[in-house]
Amino acid sequence: MTMSNRTLNLDDTLYEYVLGHSLREHPAQSALREVTRTHPGAGMQISPEQGQFMALLVRLIGASQALEVGVFTGYSALSVALALPPEGRLLACDISEDYPKIGRPYWREAGVEKKIELHIAPAAVTLAERLAQGDGGRFDFVFIDADKSSYDTYFELCLQLVRPGGLIAIDNVLWGGSVARPATDPDTLALQALNRKLHHDERIDLSLLPLGDGLALARKR
Ligand code: CA
Repeated sequence: MTMSNRTLNLDDTLYEYVLGHSLREHPAQSALREVTRTHPGAGMQISPEQGQFMALLVRLIGASQALEVGVFTGYSALSVALALPPEGRLLACDISEDYPKIGRPYWREAGVEKKIELHIAPAAVTLAERLAQGDGGRFDFVFIDADKSSYDTYFELCLQLVRPGGLIAIDNVLWGGSVARPATDPDTLALQALNRKLHHDERIDLSLLPLGDGLALARKR
């Protein structure tokens, strides 16, 4: 017996086993993942098991108002929207319409297009506008997955937008493992600084999950 009391490294065989024994994708999710697979930015798409995990979180906390910073081709938005109740809404922020428009037909196919409000503008501007409009504390679930140098700005704005007990999920916080080594590039430095800050941030409960490229879960106290 080879039990492990720390997180396993997944080789290809074990990873295929995990997917083969747990993945429950809507056909539109599989189809969107397939069209994104050949895209030059395909590495930016979250893994299907991460999409399913976030959908579970959305259901666990009973989220109805969700927010996404960084849409890419819309797989995570689709995963979250499918988990929201019929009256639920996802405010999806991106600076470019080029990538999200790839996903929109699949949002439609899955019957969740109306739940997703795509907002094309710098997310920091959109989030500040929402705060000014009185949307502070209105969101239940947030997913941050955009330019890493702005993560701290997004986190601070989202922390005001989310309700106490709401959840902020932050993607790529392990950054291929580079956060654990000395770094000079701006993205790694920004992620290292955010991880240091989150560790002792008294405003949140924290879990840094080695799922995908590292997913930080911050529950607002
Ligand atoms: Ca990501």
